[in-house]
Amino acid sequence: MTEFGLIDQIKSLFSALPTHSFEGIGDDCAVLPLGDEALVFTSDLLVEDVHFLRSSTSAFDLGYKSLAVNLSDVASMGVRPVATLLSLSVPKELMGEYVEEFMRGYHALSSKYGVALIGGDTTASKGGLVINVTAIGRGALSNIKRRSAAKVGDVVLVNGSLGESAAGLVDIFAGDCSSTLASVHKLPEPQVAQGEWLGRCDHVHAMMDISDGIASDLRHILAASGVGASVELSAIPTTVELRHALCGGEDYKLLFTVDPRGVDSLKESYNQTFGSSLFEIGVITEGQKIEWCQGGERQELDIMGFRHY
Ligand code: ADP
Ligand code: MG
Repeated sequence: MTEFGLIDQIKSLFSALPTHSFEGIGDDCAVLPLGDEALVFTSDLLVEDVHFLRSSTSAFDLGYKSLAVNLSDVASMGVRPVATLLSLSVPKELMGEYVEEFMRGYHALSSKYGVALIGGDTTASKGGLVINVTAIGRGALSNIKRRSAAKVGDVVLVNGSLGESAAGLVDIFAGDCSSTLASVHKLPEPQVAQGEWLGRCDHVHAMMDISDGIASDLRHILAASGVGASVELSAIPTTVELRHALCGGEDYKLLFTVDPRGVDSLKESYNQTFGSSLFEIGVITEGQKIEWCQGGERQELDIMGFRHY
């Protein structure tokens, strides 16, 4: 059974229970509409030796990253993160200086974006360190960007370079934990202001964050929207091998689709606001497949993103 097979099974097991107005499983966050506003909720686990090696990252960086990956999911809904709950399962030998330094990293990113810590849980661990963060975001209901909103003819864009994090992980496995790429992997920057800004743009239709590589993540948008896509490989922004950008994961940049009539003005005002570029990588098509192209020529690629199982 795959990770997504299990999630589908969980979703159908609970499908007959009341939703209490929540839009639940399937997007980067669950959405609770409250009049003209909405709250969004997301939860992520970081498990020692699955998501991180304690020997290759500092406690501060780990605290920062644990929050960053959750703020990324909130940003991808088009709203602002406002609060988190933090649960820690800590081996005895890490109580004290290690966990204090972890909290300094978590606090640094919380304070950067003015995000409150409102609760959580703390337990012992007989195994490794386990971290669970639940993040809550808030914004106008009309700004929420769902994976299911892509339309045929939309342009597919990303808001930064991809693959560096995966290439950084290769450096870390090779024993080089202090390379520039390794630090991209260890300290991802969630696209908080960018996500909220894109949330306010009506021409932006579907959006998600890139956590498993676009080969996998774009498929989630396509499946949720019932559409396909044609992607130009040479247009994918990367400074490393293309396979890292396609399949690597942990980029935590934003992947979104835009009404073709709004693309040029969006790119220009994004550039003026953030001093960086948006990249057009493809177009939404009918059918439910990804067509990979190189210089407009169709390529046969059998690629998937990161898989847990
Ligand atoms: P992301 O990478 O954006 O964090 P995931 O791929 O982890 O999203 O999850 C996909 C969807 O499945 C999300 O809506 C998430 O909340 C939901 N999900 C994942 N695991 C579970 C679970 N064990 N129980 C219920 N929902 C889950
Ligand atoms: Mg996500």
